[in-house]
Amino acid sequence: MRIERIIVYRVELPLVEGSYKWSGGKSVSVFDSTVIAVETDSGITGYGEVCPLGPFYLPAYAEGVRAGVRELAPHLLGYDPRELHKLNRRMDAALKGHPYVKSGIDMACWDVLGKATGLPLVILFGGRCGDNVQLYRAISQQAPEDMAANVAGYRSQGYRRFQLKVGGDPNIDIQRIREVREMLPPSDRLVADANTGWTQHEAIRVVRAVSDLDVYIEQPCLNYEECLAVRRASNHPFILDENIDGLDMFLRAKSDLAMDVVNLKISKLGGLTKTLQIRDLCVQMGIAMTLEDSWGGSIITAAIAHLAHSTPEEFRFSSTDFNSYVTVSNALGAPMRIDGTMEASSQPGLGIEPRMEVLGEPVFTISR
Ligand code: MG
Repeated sequence: MRIERIIVYRVELPLVEGSYKWSGGKSVSVFDSTVIAVETDSGITGYGEVCPLGPFYLPAYAEGVRAGVRELAPHLLGYDPRELHKLNRRMDAALKGHPYVKSGIDMACWDVLGKATGLPLVILFGGRCGDNVQLYRAISQQAPEDMAANVAGYRSQGYRRFQLKVGGDPNIDIQRIREVREMLPPSDRLVADANTGWTQHEAIRVVRAVSDLDVYIEQPCLNYEECLAVRRASNHPFILDENIDGLDMFLRAKSDLAMDVVNLKISKLGGLTKTLQIRDLCVQMGIAMTLEDSWGGSIITAAIAHLAHSTPEEFRFSSTDFNSYVTVSNALGAPMRIDGTMEASSQPGLGIEPRMEVLGEPVFTISR
């Protein structure tokens, strides 16, 4: 089997809530998502998706995905998309760095492998663990009482895990955390995610002020060393996200005992192949994971479902159903949330069928 063509589409994904706000006044109202089709000479086509959370979240941006694929795709024509490790080595040899550019191609090639073998990715990733995947709801940054009202609304939809977008004014963040935690039963899980937004002294003030509350602290500061200092000054379970951008940083953080949970985002790590490497290490090393991506539509939600559902339940901290945050569906067959959970498809590959009328005309095509 050979890659014949790589086709790139652009899809806009407006938010149901109108906008999504997080630390430092950052916000997005329409996400710019790139869908990548990998066509083979056997008639099988696989699909992948990359959707950075705006250009100011991680070192990634939507136009960069497309520019990178334009650079990379000619080097991959003629390769067997089912040979994922060889393909990833080829991508790394042809384009240094830029992991997010490679993520959608890698995802599409996994979809090809699943379709070629007739197996859903959840089986190829190790096997289905448990009945379903527990989801968290990200709560956009607003006034404390508005965030509490949003948590109550999403709780009535079945969610039991919540991630508060903090990382703003520490005094208000303390109120945000306190107000929401006090309205939740002990069995609900609450994360305060600062998305790098606090300075070290602010973060230490916040963790001290909420030290009596059952809350996880996620990525308080920009730099790893700052986060480590906050971790050591805190009695809360601790999650690292933005700093863990590959295997080296993961191993360093594990060695420093810098985290209890790690947030693995597929495109941040360079695709499903590389995320699976760290996922499997986490299981061996006893670190729980949030398994997700930066953002995305139906195709990314399907990929997250396969990744999470094939992860042993005790190491699954939470995952995200991004397709329920946006008003546009870019594929049929993606998981639909039921009572705050989702399931991986039993259909071959990702188990999705792209909505070609939503993808529209390709931005470009690279052919043999
Ligand atoms: Mg995070």
